Amino acid sequence: AKELGRSLYQFYSTDMEKQSSYLMLLETGLRKAIERNELELYYQPQFDLVSNKVTSYEALLRWKHPTLGYISPGEFIPLAEDTGLILSIGEWVINTVCQRIKKWNESGYEPISIGINLSAKQFQQIGLVDMIKENIESNQIFPGCLEFELTEGAMQDAKKTLRTLNQLKDVGVRISVDDFGTGYSSLSYIKRFPIDTLKIDQSFVRDVLTDEKDAAITTTIIYLAQSLGLSVIAEGVEDEKQVEFFKLMGCHKAQGYYFSKPLPEKEIIEHYFKKKTK
Ligand code: C2E
Ligand code: CA
Ligand code: CA
Ligand code: CA
Repeated sequence: AKELGRSLYQFYSTDMEKQSSYLMLLETGLRKAIERNELELYYQPQFDLVSNKVTSYEALLRWKHPTLGYISPGEFIPLAEDTGLILSIGEWVINTVCQRIKKWNESGYEPISIGINLSAKQFQQIGLVDMIKENIESNQIFPGCLEFELTEGAMQDAKKTLRTLNQLKDVGVRISVDDFGTGYSSLSYIKRFPIDTLKIDQSFVRDVLTDEKDAAITTTIIYLAQSLGLSVIAEGVEDEKQVEFFKLMGCHKAQGYYFSKPLPEKEIIEHYFKKKTK
C-alpha cells in the first residue's frame, strides 16, 4: 500500500503540479514586482507608411524576475488579470508613461504619442477615468498624446462601455480597438462607440500575402475603417511585401518587427526621438 501511495503521488506530482507551483511562484513574484522595481516598459514604434515617419509608440510591459529571468507578458498578464494584480500593474504603467512623457517634453523632444494597453478588468475598474485624468493633469501633458488600446473582450457590456469611453473622450485621450477582428462582438459597436483607431490583429497579417481569406478580412477591415472615418493600423508586419500590400490597400500605418522590435526607452530615444527645432 505504501508503494502504491508513493507511485500515485509521483503520478500526480508530474505536469499538473509543476504547472501550478510554477504559477504560484509567478504570482508571489508578481505581487512584489512593482516595489522591487522589476517591471519595465519597452516601446514599439508605429510607422506612417506614406511619410515613413514614426507617429507613436506602443508601451509594452517587460518583467525581469530575479531568478527566472525575463517573463513574457503573454504569460504574466493573464495571471495578473486572474489575481486582480493587473489593477496596480496597470496603474503603474499609466503613471510611468505619463511621467516619461513629461520628462521627454521637458528635455525638448518633439511631442510623442504613446499607446497604452488596458485589460478588461482595468477598463471596468471604478475610478479608472479619474486616475487617468489625475495623471494627465499632474504631469501637464496633452491628453491627445495618449491612446488607450482595448480588445473587443473588454467591451462586452455595451452600456457601461459607452459610458466609460465617452468619459475618456471627454478627458481628451484616444481609443483604439486592439486585436481587431478576433473578438465576438457585433460590429454595430464600432458605430456607437467613440473609437479612433482599429488595430488589425497580427493573426490576419501573418499570411496576408498567401492566404486569400486573410487578404479578404484585412481589406474589409481597412475599407470599414475608411468608410467610418477611423484610423487603421496593421500589427505584426514582418516583411517588405506586407508593407507594400497594406500601402496599396490604403492602410497607412503599420507596426511590427519589419520596422522595429519593442525597445527599451534609452534605445527608442537614441534611434527615433528628435529635438524640437526652435
Ligand atoms: P498586444 O497588445 O497585441 O501587443 C502586440 C504584441 O505583438 C507584443 O507582444 C509585441 O512585442 C508583438 N509584436 C510586435 N510586432 C511583432 C511582429 O512583427 N511579429 C510578431 N510575431 N510579434 C510582434 P508582447 O510585448 O509580448 O505583449 C503580448 C501581450 O501582452 C500584448 O499583446 C498585450 O495584450 C499584453 N500586454 C503587454 N503590455 C501590457 C500592458 O502594459 N498592459 C496590459 N493590460 N497588457 C499588456
Ligand atoms: Ca496592444
Ligand atoms: Ca494587438
Ligand atoms: Ca494580442
